[in-house]
Amino acid sequence: MHDANGCWALIVHGGAKSIAPDKAEANRAGCLAAARIGAQILRGGGSAVAAAEAAVRHLEDDDTFNAGIGSVPNADGEIEMDAAIMDGTTLAVGAVAAVRRIRNPIGGAAMMLDALPVLLVGEGAERFARDHGIALCEPEPLASPPAAAGSPEHDTVGCVAIDAAGHIAAAASTGGLTGQHPGRIGDAPIPGAGLYADDQLGGVAFSGDGESILRTMLAARVMQALETMQATPAAEAAIARLARVGGEAGAIVIDRAGRIGVAHNSEHFALALHASWLPEPRAALHSSELKDVLDHD
Ligand code: ASP
Repeated sequence: MHDANGCWALIVHGGAKSIAPDKAEANRAGCLAAARIGAQILRGGGSAVAAAEAAVRHLEDDDTFNAGIGSVPNADGEIEMDAAIMDGTTLAVGAVAAVRRIRNPIGGAAMMLDALPVLLVGEGAERFARDHGIALCEPEPLASPPAAAGSPEHDTVGCVAIDAAGHIAAAASTGGLTGQHPGRIGDAPIPGAGLYADDQLGGVAFSGDGESILRTMLAARVMQALETMQATPAAEAAIARLARVGGEAGAIVIDRAGRIGVAHNSEHFALALHASWLPEPRAALHSSELKDVLDHD
């Protein structure tokens, strides 16, 4: 539990989805590695924002996950990526959407934390990144054919962290849905939908059906629930809201006391977490594997 005695915690996800048996190990290993990277920063006294960015950057660089280099093609066979990061101390948000030439979209988003715009899209976001020293890459030529419309796959990566000073950050990055309409932007870069962080309450990041998450403003629901509930019940209450519109989602949460929560209605949810009170990081493909550490005081 966060008590200003240097306690820290972090949880990452690699998507609320169904994970085929032959992909299970890669999902666990990728999340575990990202959690270790974030934890190393927090253990060394680094900030929650720095830890969340580094963890998500690692997941973007792992093509197991639909973010960064693993992004899925849209209906035109092209990659369009969304990412966001939120600083729960200042309520600053940096977000980019529909970008094609930023290799690590979370880096572009983090760069915007100090700028006035919350969200920049497409070429405007790429120009901002380039003007601030990020070298743009060529859009990756895609080997895989565009997916048939109507067969979206869920996958996104995210992180929520609380540092030793009690500051909270949330981050998300995604290639969106397979075969999505060009120009479609999901929940991931939208504060109050795909993520949110506020030191006074906690932080949350989602994966799942972006349109359903947007229409039910799920991150906002979690934040409201955290006023009276612990982390896992708050996440569960938000996921229950999906029944109204249908759809699948998963949420990772850390509350202001450093308790970690998870809820999902997808078959699997690729996860890893670490905390100052745990001897080793833990990975899981379903929240039930983490029961003994969720909402731990
Ligand atoms: N939420 C993401 C989106 O709708 C995709 C996902 O998490 O699977 O773009």
